[in-house]
Amino acid sequence: MSTVPPPETVTMSKTAEPLLIRRAAVLGAGTMGAQIAAHLANVGIPTLMLDIPAQAGAKDPSKIALDALGKSKPAAFYEPANAGLITPGSFDKDLPLLAQCDWVIEAVTENFEIKAALLASVLPHLAKNALLTTNTSGLPVGRIGRALDNHRERFFGAHFFNPPRYMRLLEVIATPETDRAVLAGFTAFADRILGKQVVFANDTPNFIANRIGIALMFNAAELLLQQGLTVEDVDALTGPALGWPRTGTFRLADLVGIDVLAHVAANFPQGVTQGKFAGVLAELTKRKWLGDKTGQGFYKKVRGADGKDERLVLDLNTLEYRPATRPALPALDMAKNAPEAKERLRMLMSNDPAKDKAAGFLWPLLSSLWNYSAERIGEAAPDAPAIDAAMRTGFNWELGPFQMWDAVGVVSSVARMKAMGLSVSAAAEALISTGRAGWYSADEQECFEPVRNQPLPVLKTAGHARVADFRRTHKVVRSNAGASLVDLGDGIACIELHSPKNAIGGDVLSLISSVLNSDSEVVRNFAGFVITGDRDNFSVGANLMQLLMLAQEGEWHEVDGVINRFQQMTAAIKFCPRPVVVAPFGMTLGGGAEICLHAMRRQPHAETYIGLVEAGVGLIPAGGGTKEMLLRAIDAAVALAPPDPRDPSSRFAQSAEMAAALKRVFELIAMAKVSTSAAEARAMGLFGPSDRITVNRERLLPDAKTHAQALAQSGYMPPRPRTIPAAGASALSTMETGVFLMGEAGYASEHDQKVARWIAYVLAGGRVTAGTPLSEQNLLDLEREAFLSLCGERKTQERIAFTLKTGKPLRN
Ligand code: NAD
Repeated sequence: MSTVPPPETVTMSKTAEPLLIRRAAVLGAGTMGAQIAAHLANVGIPTLMLDIPAQAGAKDPSKIALDALGKSKPAAFYEPANAGLITPGSFDKDLPLLAQCDWVIEAVTENFEIKAALLASVLPHLAKNALLTTNTSGLPVGRIGRALDNHRERFFGAHFFNPPRYMRLLEVIATPETDRAVLAGFTAFADRILGKQVVFANDTPNFIANRIGIALMFNAAELLLQQGLTVEDVDALTGPALGWPRTGTFRLADLVGIDVLAHVAANFPQGVTQGKFAGVLAELTKRKWLGDKTGQGFYKKVRGADGKDERLVLDLNTLEYRPATRPALPALDMAKNAPEAKERLRMLMSNDPAKDKAAGFLWPLLSSLWNYSAERIGEAAPDAPAIDAAMRTGFNWELGPFQMWDAVGVVSSVARMKAMGLSVSAAAEALISTGRAGWYSADEQECFEPVRNQPLPVLKTAGHARVADFRRTHKVVRSNAGASLVDLGDGIACIELHSPKNAIGGDVLSLISSVLNSDSEVVRNFAGFVITGDRDNFSVGANLMQLLMLAQEGEWHEVDGVINRFQQMTAAIKFCPRPVVVAPFGMTLGGGAEICLHAMRRQPHAETYIGLVEAGVGLIPAGGGTKEMLLRAIDAAVALAPPDPRDPSSRFAQSAEMAAALKRVFELIAMAKVSTSAAEARAMGLFGPSDRITVNRERLLPDAKTHAQALAQSGYMPPRPRTIPAAGASALSTMETGVFLMGEAGYASEHDQKVARWIAYVLAGGRVTAGTPLSEQNLLDLEREAFLSLCGERKTQERIAFTLKTGKPLRN
């Protein structure tokens, strides 16, 4: 294609400061424009959202889009209130407002003429230094920007992935005129403030991730047609077995929209998307079977005769629907036993493709993926690590294509491809001729670069690190099956949680307690601590299996011991003489939330789903979680109405402020509320104003380390155990009445009510006179009493057993 400029590698300046974006604008309030605006609002940037004007008598499209944003699933906003940062408007009236924006994002229909005409019309309104970017999925960026006169230096492609809040990839496509310093500042902004993984792509059709991902989809569909497989077969073979998302190939197509796919496919160079499947897509587009948005695509949900939903699936040969069936692929069932994607890949690919259906499909599919990816090096992407990063963060793959290829073995797989008559890319041949075993060196610090025919260091962005990086470069001080203590350098150590199912068992309890207690040698040797991990979730809570077994056998003394040890662990976190910063991410439930609540500070990832969910399994938070929430309630009440020191403390304990704060905390625990983001957790009172939120997951650990260092360097003193005035018997009665009414109204089962009454009991400080002084230890004793009592309840044990089996709560 004549529009493709020569390959160019843009590397990121490590020292650039993030550009200051005080206000932004999105042009186009469609699927992407609206959600990009929402994500900008999430990070606190006021954003103008413009679209075409309303038809006579109708509401502005941008206003309709803003209303719909609040209801989008998955949620586009961290918190619903963020909608207030978006100002809707229209292209006919509001272009002058662009003068106040530091960044203008074009996200209108994927049509060159429409985009070029719109950019020409906004050009006169732009501030001199404003950035202008296009969100095109694959049109030539240089050509779109050609008419931009003197603004071309501040124009480039910034390609978000759908949904922009959750998908981490941002492909940045520079033109020859784009100012490199501007690009570096923007990249730093996108990385730190928007939380994106920036990958530089060349201005080639469909850039990197869609180019590879959609070519793969077409190949999978062609193989289906050639080999007589079903849509279900292919979805099973292209899902979690390979470390790819559950949506597989065709569920993903239905989600993305078949028309969108056809659109992107049209940008492809000849060949890749020209087979029989292209005809299928064209026919589906004609019939408006576009996937989820029109209710049917490769799959279709119908209501069966029994009133239940039934899933139908399309036969790609006849284009008729039939009931979905479970694929018979024994090799896949076998592979499920391997926990790691690399191991599963090796197992699946070790079978004979002539005899095994799975291997017969995966060998040609992955060979074409690997070779096609290798051919993109120096063409669409600067190097193999960029392609791997794009596929991991743009398509949610666990491993990029080159990491997958290395896992299977480059030398042996190339020999096999040749034996099967499959083609092998020149880049792979070049790699093998150097005598290297794979694309990456064993420590993944270097990767082979076929254009220069030599290994090059894998560039790491400054400020990105995982615990695994420190494990390699620093010392693992101590370790067991559930947790490790890893030296992070600069006087800070990390307690890494890594228990098998992210549950907190005896090993985690003992490591944290022994490391952080004030007599520990480790505490003497380090200035501060971070508690975090490298997995997808921080922690799903205490090990319920252990607990259920003890409860079913009536080992109450043992149960009491477990709670005691849990309370000692959280106390060690809270009263550690050195500052402890907890950096949670993903699911942070039950005991995981309690670990957070006891630290001096929290540095959560923006996508943290935290909650005290114990009530769901018929228990109460007894690792100090109920106590910590009560202390927060007291602090909130004091902030609103500081008690008069001359008054008796019973007066404060019975104040309206205290009652309101108590009610909030009571509901949070009794209803097992879980936040949908870190920002929401702050609004719920689980995080405080001094806790800092990190948007980029790769920065979480370094940010938490910096936070711990700052505390250590500014004269850290641990808190002292507190004594508080009990809200007492009358507050308890009020809460119990609330529980009763919830039961009467049918909102709470008998057992829900029992659990809620115990929560109220602990929060009230027991059935005592208001103002009775209570120590933290008194509160912990109440937690233990409640927990032990509930553990003995049959319904609680049923709840635990059900949750262990299904992962869901049982409301018995
Ligand atoms: P969309 O159809 O949902 O929205 C397009 C918007 O453009 C609409 O709000 C529409 O009112 C506006 N528009 C239409 N004609 C116009 C005109 N003549 N002048 C001005 N505005 C006009 O599309 P989308 O999915 O949000 O895609 C927007 C851009 O983002 C496209 O370039 C697309 O390729 C790209 N993109 C889409 C996705 C995705 O998954 N949908 C992902 C990444 C990038």
